[in-house]
Amino acid sequence: MKSNPKLWPNIVVFKENTDWAQRVMEELEVSQTSDWATLYKARSDGSLWRLDARDKQDARFLVKIEEERGWAQLDISNQVKELLLESRGGNTNVSCLQSNCKNFALKGFSFCVEHVYDRGIRV
Ligand SMILES: [Zn+2]
Repeated sequence: MKSNPKLWPNIVVFKENTDWAQRVMEELEVSQTSDWATLYKARSDGSLWRLDARDKQDARFLVKIEEERGWAQLDISNQVKELLLESRGGNTNVSCLQSNCKNFALKGFSFCVEHVYDRGIRV
C-alpha cells in the first residue's frame, strides 16, 4: 500500500525499521544531501521532506519543508520543541527550575520545553 504524503505529520520522529517508515521511503526520492540531513522529494506530489542523517543522535526527524532554497541550514528546533511539548502532553503548572525562567515546566520534567531542549533532550 502506498503512503500518501498529504497524510504525514509535518514533523515526526523517523524510526527506520517501522512499516510506516518503509512505506514513506518508497514514496520519497533523494533530491540533495548534506552532512547533517537529506532532502527528499515525494514522488506523488513533489512535496519536500528533510530527514536528519544517521548519527549519534538517537532521534531523527522527518520534517516537511516549504522550499528547497536554504534547506540544509534550516533551523528545525521550533518544530522539534512543538513535537516534544505535544508528545509529553503539554506543561505542568509548576515553574521551570532554570533561574529567571518564567515558563512552566514540561510534564515529566523540572524544566520548561526550552530548557529541556537546551539539555539535549529531543523526544
Ligand atoms: Zn525554562
